[in-house]
Amino acid sequence: MQEQTMWGHPKGLYILFFTELWERFSFYGMRAILVLYLTAQTTGDNPGLDWTSKEALALYGWYGMFVYFMGIFGGAIADKWLGQKQSVLVGGVLIILGQFSISIDSLMTFYSGLILLVCGVGLLKPNISTMVGGLYKKGDIRRDAGFTIFYIGINIGALAAPLLVGYIGETYDWHLGFSLAGIGMILGQIVYVFGRKHLQGIGDLLKHSATEAHLATKPLSKVEKDRLIVLLLSFLIVIVFWAAYEQAGGLMNLYARDSVDRLLFGWEIPTSWFQSLHAFYVVLIGGPMAVIWLRWSKKGKESSAVFKMAVGMIIMAVSFLALMGAVYDASLSAIGKAPIYWLLLSYFLHVVAELSISPVALSFITKLAPAKYASLTMGAYFAIVGIGNKAAGLLGEAAQESGVMTVFAIIATMCFIVGLLVFALVKKLKTLTHGAEDEILESPHDEEAQSIAE
Ligand code: GLN
Repeated sequence: MQEQTMWGHPKGLYILFFTELWERFSFYGMRAILVLYLTAQTTGDNPGLDWTSKEALALYGWYGMFVYFMGIFGGAIADKWLGQKQSVLVGGVLIILGQFSISIDSLMTFYSGLILLVCGVGLLKPNISTMVGGLYKKGDIRRDAGFTIFYIGINIGALAAPLLVGYIGETYDWHLGFSLAGIGMILGQIVYVFGRKHLQGIGDLLKHSATEAHLATKPLSKVEKDRLIVLLLSFLIVIVFWAAYEQAGGLMNLYARDSVDRLLFGWEIPTSWFQSLHAFYVVLIGGPMAVIWLRWSKKGKESSAVFKMAVGMIIMAVSFLALMGAVYDASLSAIGKAPIYWLLLSYFLHVVAELSISPVALSFITKLAPAKYASLTMGAYFAIVGIGNKAAGLLGEAAQESGVMTVFAIIATMCFIVGLLVFALVKKLKTLTHGAEDEILESPHDEEAQSIAE
């Protein structure tokens, strides 16, 4: 069948783009008001649950971990029973039920809603990401760019959500806010259901073809095992990266509130606004960054995924050096506060690093994972992201005792070390990928056949 394209990419990409945009709108919208709702007093116009900050942050931390960790089960379910396409559909339904369940004013429905969300996101998130990879044949040079476009969609949702859901929830009614997050996911489902005609042959359960039946009996080949080793090593990078990156919502957030001079022409910028900066920067520089990497690789320079990730880790380290600059400046300032540019710079560098690591990792996984474990491998990636989130919380807590300067320095050092290590290993790791990243302009869509041949 002739591939239908739009702006040079399969039309299915835009279906997944908008589905995930709305799913992330729903996800980040709910997340933006969760802690605020939990800690709001039980009296007043817009009553909350009156939890302490500590209790609320603890729930937030566990939720952040489980919602991603569940991806490993979501991936396994897709590989074994549902296929990715169906899993995304079921996941979306669970998310809608979860958001509306939370929007009902009772503790029972609140907790059930959280569980539904954890299961729904666990089913949807890794599988929709694997489906993006499924749109491109082996060796298709558009794959990385496809993931960058998809990633920009994610961040448009993430950017809009705190503004809309946050505003409605905080100003009018928390429950209305949660409902709005649910409506976002309904829009995502509508796009997905009506756009499914552009996803034919993508994300179906592998067992159905004779080739897959053959694969399902067959043990992993040496090539597949080597590739898995590379993936597992790159997962280490991913843990350290997200542990550093997710300081944004915790430690960096508090630091911005207490120790950064946020006055702009006499007006104080609300601390929470900094939470939209990541998504804003991704939307702003996602495209240019993809072009820069593409030009770089067209010049024949080293541009393997592991190389990009190493570059990302060094940039991440520099972003924490910028924060150390802030702490130093604050110690010299008469008002004990750091100038705002350190924070803006640090967030910017976070995103340059993110764009060198996160969409790159997603694309890399779809190139390297054995066909029969494609979704499980993606799920494992998100489980690792979940662990990174939890590690971020622990590092943030550590700062309460050892001080921000020490923790920022530890994170910078960790990122430098990992980045340098990966640089040193790039050649070896590339050998272990057995040409999985080699670009082929024209190729038959037969990854399975290729893996049988190997
Ligand atoms: N911000 C991206 C998203 O929401 C990355 C999330 C992650 O992998 N931690 O999809």
